[in-house]
Amino acid sequence: MKCKICNETIFGHGHNAQPVANGRCCDVCQDTKVLPLRLDLMLNESPAFQMFARMMQDMERVNE
Ligand SMILES: [Zn+2]
Repeated sequence: MKCKICNETIFGHGHNAQPVANGRCCDVCQDTKVLPLRLDLMLNESPAFQMFARMMQDMERVNE
């Protein structure tokens, strides 16, 4: 079995590569690509993060 992201051979069962790729990925890609992207998507959908992002934008506007 090959990693859908970097094409390396996966030892063991691998991981679900979504949302980066449709298939399985290796340990390295799971840690460096899949998990950070999932965290990003989760944060972007979180109301608390959106509120925080808006606050930061407002603060930047004040400094202009
Ligand atoms: Zn990989």
